[in-house]
Amino acid sequence: MKNNKEIKCSFCGRDKSATNVLIAGMSGHICDQCIAQAQQIVNEESSEKLKSSITSSLQLLKPIEIKEFLDQYVIGQNDAKKVISVAVYNHYKRLIYRTRQKEDVEIDKSNIILVGETGTGKTLLARSIARLLKVPFCIADATVLTEAGYVGEDVESVLTRLLQAADYDVTAAERGIVYIDEIDKIARKSDNPSITRDVSGEGVQQGLLKMLENTIVNVPPQGGRKHPEQKMIAVNTQNILFICGGAFDGIEKIIARRMQTSAIGFSTGNDMAEIDKSNLMQYISPLDLKTFGLIPELIGRLPVVTHLLPLDRATLKLILTEPKNALMRQYEKLFEMENVKIKFDEDVIDFIVDKAVEFKLGARGLRSICEAIMLDLMFETPTSGKESTIKVTLKYAMEKVNKSTISKLKVA
Ligand code: ADP
Repeated sequence: MKNNKEIKCSFCGRDKSATNVLIAGMSGHICDQCIAQAQQIVNEESSEKLKSSITSSLQLLKPIEIKEFLDQYVIGQNDAKKVISVAVYNHYKRLIYRTRQKEDVEIDKSNIILVGETGTGKTLLARSIARLLKVPFCIADATVLTEAGYVGEDVESVLTRLLQAADYDVTAAERGIVYIDEIDKIARKSDNPSITRDVSGEGVQQGLLKMLENTIVNVPPQGGRKHPEQKMIAVNTQNILFICGGAFDGIEKIIARRMQTSAIGFSTGNDMAEIDKSNLMQYISPLDLKTFGLIPELIGRLPVVTHLLPLDRATLKLILTEPKNALMRQYEKLFEMENVKIKFDEDVIDFIVDKAVEFKLGARGLRSICEAIMLDLMFETPTSGKESTIKVTLKYAMEKVNKSTISKLKVA
């Protein structure tokens, strides 16, 4: 066995006495100074790699191209698509900028808030973005979040998901994008700050605020509170882009009220006539979000506000047939696998749209109505295997919808 004097660092040859720490391996040793030097080389290398991977994705994705990509999956909603394309592009640019050391101008990130009725494509937009991104991405739901100490998930669990999406690579997660759905559900119930504890509202907003500010958050890697022994991972949120979405039910009334008062206050009243009253959502401003019940500090951290339009009949029809993974195409594919060609009469498509409008289900309802029509065919075709072409007629569709439980949804 070697005595202490003969033990040296196998890399620099330093004697054990000249080192603070000397770590033994299978057939050699490494001293603390060599470890520090190696760590520095690793950091420089990975920062170079990061820079080049971001640069290459940036070359791939200009805002117009990002929007064109989104067009394949999301019908309409051009304003929201444009805003998201620019935000995502700038997110990449910021990341490159950050990897360069000398620049003196700080580019702030522009977290986004998407406002639009349920079923108008907010989550779809987020999911479609996730398809083309070269950074980790996760979707979280604000409704399950509560203040620490209450039943529900801590705000940090949102970052747990991001870490999982990044395979626990903290550096990758720190440049990721998070979509937080149903942000409107944590609005406080009145415009006055409450003096009592507000479990699901303001406390959670404060928690989110901390995360959205550029801080280091200690994240439980397994999420939840079931594993109190787990070691926290520190995640810096400075470069994480947050996109929040919510239906903000009733916000049109708030917008209308604000516009009415500003019209009276500042002009002759003619302004109100020029306003498209059928679609007030397009005039949404951060002020309306405050009136709705989001705290001003949180709104300040979500500087880009954009809206999604309610879906009209024509858009619903396009949604059924146009996108890359349109429902009708999905059914065609499903039947193709059984070697059956399925065809829908044009009036069947119109019927599905009419029912979706009638049931007030928006695009979300399209799927349930289609399922009601298709269930029997999907049940029987794999066994019977007789026909090679099936035509779905209006008569057949009406019969199936009327028989199914979905017809009970009809609103009075
Ligand atoms: P939200 O998050 O706004 O409540 P989703 O994005 O979950 O709504 O939409 C529900 C479903 O409706 C989606 O899976 C999609 O099939 C369809 N859909 C909604 N809006 C659109 C749209 N603009 N283009 C294509 N499909 C849409």
